[in-house]
Amino acid sequence: MASFKYAIHLRQDSNNAFDQKHPPGIVAPYAGIYRCVVCGEEIGIAQGHTLPPQNHHQHPAGRGRIEWQLLVQAHGH
Ligand SMILES: [Zn+2]
Repeated sequence: MASFKYAIHLRQDSNNAFDQKHPPGIVAPYAGIYRCVVCGEEIGIAQGHTLPPQNHHQHPAGRGRIEWQLLVQAHGH
């Protein structure tokens, strides 16, 4: 689970960007931290970079496919 120390630097946001689920291997639509909805693995992605491909991590048979969901969005200036 993602963690932080200073809540003053984070704010809750109800934008539906946080509800979308993205397949592996596509260009990430937002910079930030993504979480695999099946296994909980977390990754950081820079603006314009690609979400890790299917072989980045493996799920046991029957657990379902990798889907990345935005957990924390990073905002540039
Ligand atoms: Zn996973």
